[in-house]
Amino acid sequence: LQESYDIVIIGGGGAGMTAALEAKAAGMNPVIFEKMEAAGGNTLKSSSGMNASETKFQKEQGIEDSNDLFFDETLKGGHDTNNQEMLRYFVDNSASAIDWLDSQGITLDNITITGGMKEKRTHRPTDGSAVGQYLVSGLVADVQEQGIPLFVNADVKEITQENGQANGVKVVFDGSDEKTISAGAVIVATGGFGANQELIKQYRPDLEGYVTTNQPGSTGDGITMIEALGGTTVDMDQIQVHPTVNQEKSYLIGEVVRGEGGILVDKEGNRFVNEMDTRDNVTAAITKLDNRESYLIFDSGVKSRAKAIEQYDKMGLVQTGETIEALAEQIGLPADGLKSTLDTWNASVAAKKDAAFGRETGMDNDLSGAPYYAVKIGPGIHYTMGGVKINTETEVLNASGEAIPGLYAAGEVTGGLHGQNRIGGNSVAEIVIFGREAGVKAAEFVKANQ
Ligand code: ADP
Repeated sequence: LQESYDIVIIGGGGAGMTAALEAKAAGMNPVIFEKMEAAGGNTLKSSSGMNASETKFQKEQGIEDSNDLFFDETLKGGHDTNNQEMLRYFVDNSASAIDWLDSQGITLDNITITGGMKEKRTHRPTDGSAVGQYLVSGLVADVQEQGIPLFVNADVKEITQENGQANGVKVVFDGSDEKTISAGAVIVATGGFGANQELIKQYRPDLEGYVTTNQPGSTGDGITMIEALGGTTVDMDQIQVHPTVNQEKSYLIGEVVRGEGGILVDKEGNRFVNEMDTRDNVTAAITKLDNRESYLIFDSGVKSRAKAIEQYDKMGLVQTGETIEALAEQIGLPADGLKSTLDTWNASVAAKKDAAFGRETGMDNDLSGAPYYAVKIGPGIHYTMGGVKINTETEVLNASGEAIPGLYAAGEVTGGLHGQNRIGGNSVAEIVIFGREAGVKAAEFVKANQ
C-alpha cells in the first residue's frame, strides 16, 4: 500500500476494474479498494449478457442491427425518461466496448435477446453461460496481469477534497485500520443500493419486505459520499423489481430462459403475460397473481441453449417431469391446464403469432422436447436505476450541473441512463462503456494537473 496513487478507484466490480485497466493503459498508477472479501460486486451475479449494436459478432452472424434502433428501444423501455445524451453516447460506444473486451481476452460472441428488444444484441460468452462470472474472472485476471493493486476488505468511508477538488479517500482495512490515501483523481464505482433496506424504504415504501437479488455490499455508499461533496442525484425512486426471482433463495432466474423460449404460467397453468415484455410490465402482471407467484416453464431445448440453467439446477431450483403431466403433478398445477397451455403455445410458435399476448420474440423454438422443467418465481428488488448524476465524460455533477473537479463515477452508482426501466443486458454494457470512459477521463485530468 502506498500513501498516494494517481487514481483511487472505489469498488471492485465491473465498472471499477474496467476503469482501472483503462487508467493503467493511459500510463497511470491506479489502485482499487473493494470493501467485500472478493472483487466482483453485483457484476458477478449478472446473467443475461451485454447489449451492444453494430458489433462485429452481430455482423458475422448476419444480425442486422443499428445504434439508432438500440437507442429507440432503450428509450421506449425507459418510458422516454432516459437521459438522451448519455444514451446516445452509450449506444454509439457499445460496439467498440465489445471489441475492447475481446482485446482483453473477454469474448462475448454468443448473442441472444432480452425483454423489450426486437433484435438479438445481448452478447454472452461463447458457450452461452452467464456473463457475470466470465466477465469478472476475465477482468480480475487482466487487473492482476497489469499489476494493478486491488485491496479487498478495504472499505472507503469518505472522499477527501481540497479547494473543491477530490484528492483522496479515507479507507478502513479489515474493519479497523483507517488510512488516508491521496490521489490525483477519484473514481466512484461502488454499485447501487439494492441491498440497503433503509434506503429502499426511504425512496420506495411500497417495496418493504421484497427479497433482493443484490450482493450485501450494494449499500449505496458511493451515493452518500458523493452527496457529502455536493454531488447531486437523479431518479432515486426508480428501483427495478425483477419479475423472475426464486423467493426461497433470493436468486435471480435470468431473462435468457424466456429469451430462449420459456413461458410463464399462473397456478392454474395458464399464461398471463407477454413474457418478453419489459421487466416493469412483466413484474406488474406477476404482482397481480395470488401471492405474487408464478412458474417459469421450459423444455430440454431451452435447457441446452440457456447454460445458466445448470446453475439453477445445482441450487435445487429446477423441477423436472418426463411429461408435461408429470411436471404439473410435481409442482401442483392442474395437468390439463398446463398441457393445453403448452399445446396452444406450440401452435403459436409454429404460426409465429401469439394471439393471446402478442409476444414476438423468444419464439425460435417451441416447447416440445421432453423432459419438461419448472422454476417457481416471483418479483424481487434487482437494480437501482437512480444514482449520482454524471455527464458523458463521467464527471460527477453538482446541483447546478457543474463538474466536481477530480471526481468521476461509473456503473450502477450513477443514474439517468436507464430512466424508469432498465432493459436486461444494458447494465453490463453500461459498466464497460462508462467504466472505460471514467478511466480515460480521470487519467486526462491527472495528467493535466501534474
Ligand atoms: P458495477 O456493476 O457498477 O461495477 P458492482 O456492484 O458490480 O457495481 O460493484 C461495486 C463494488 O463496489 C462492489 O463489489 C461493492 O462491494 C463495492 N463497494 C461498495 N461500497 C464500497 C465502499 N464504501 N468501499 C469499497 N468498495 C465498495
